[in-house]
Amino acid sequence: MHPDLHVLKQRIPLLDYLRRQNWTARPVGAHQEFVGLCPLHPETHPSFYVNAAKNVFYCHGCGHGGDIIRFVQLSLNLSFREALLHLKQQLGLPEPGENEALRETVDFYQQQLGRHSEALDYLHSRGIDDPRLIEQLSIGYAPGGMLYRHLICLGYPADLLMRLGLVYKGKDAFYRRVVFPCFAGSCPINLYGRSIGGAAPHRFLPRSKAGLFAWSTVGNYHEVILVEGVFDLAVLWQAGFINTTCAFGVHLTDAQFSQLSDHRDRTAFIAFDSDPAGQKAACALGQRLQRVGLSVRIIDLPAGQDPNSYFVEGASQAHFDRCLRNARRP
Ligand SMILES: [Zn+2]
Repeated sequence: MHPDLHVLKQRIPLLDYLRRQNWTARPVGAHQEFVGLCPLHPETHPSFYVNAAKNVFYCHGCGHGGDIIRFVQLSLNLSFREALLHLKQQLGLPEPGENEALRETVDFYQQQLGRHSEALDYLHSRGIDDPRLIEQLSIGYAPGGMLYRHLICLGYPADLLMRLGLVYKGKDAFYRRVVFPCFAGSCPINLYGRSIGGAAPHRFLPRSKAGLFAWSTVGNYHEVILVEGVFDLAVLWQAGFINTTCAFGVHLTDAQFSQLSDHRDRTAFIAFDSDPAGQKAACALGQRLQRVGLSVRIIDLPAGQDPNSYFVEGASQAHFDRCLRNARRP
């Protein structure tokens, strides 16, 4: 049982709930059992039993039985989710919101990752193996078909999940994707999903990309390495370069640019793809950053490589260290 459900049931004992509905009963036996007329079907002789210790009911007349949620479903003709909402309203609990839904999603995907070898195989193929790093980056996996039900069971309304973009046409929008949450401080505010199959490779929630990746920690460094993608970042963090951030592409948003340039004495090392497009973008960004007072160095990787492929093909911390030392002005 999910902990939320457990708490909910503890906070509204079935017997209390029934008594509030004017159900009258007499005790039977020695084990906190009560019997009274069934609220679910017409009868003249009591056949509705409640076990207050176990918080369950059973009616020998109509054959219905279960917990408080089941009772609310049957007596008010509600779905499981509606019954949960009804009980939460009885408790005066606010409907859970967007932040909580994103946090639950991140937790759920994290739990799924270890259960799906195809996702771990994909991470392995991208050079990511260290369980501590996977935990540190809160990397997860969306197997598809389970997130919706999980969140609905926790009481999140379907329209919220659709509005957030977690669910599209009743399906998990990140289906068969490895998922990296983007945080502002400790609060997840977007998700990046990388398809492990043939579907569109990159996906975000339809909301702001939320600045530079992991900036609340990386922004404390005097020297910062900027890469294009989160897989570049992951292999660099794994190799110990935890002063690496990424902008999910070569074009920084205004917010990302102001983050990177918020300290004039910062040195930015740009490690974009070693192809003409990546190099051109690195040069242009480097010059822009220099104009606002930063020191900038461009990292040259072997032709055709990006930081991720460089490490996947066997580069070590020492190799990348050498690239850092040899970095040039834009
Ligand atoms: Zn009954």
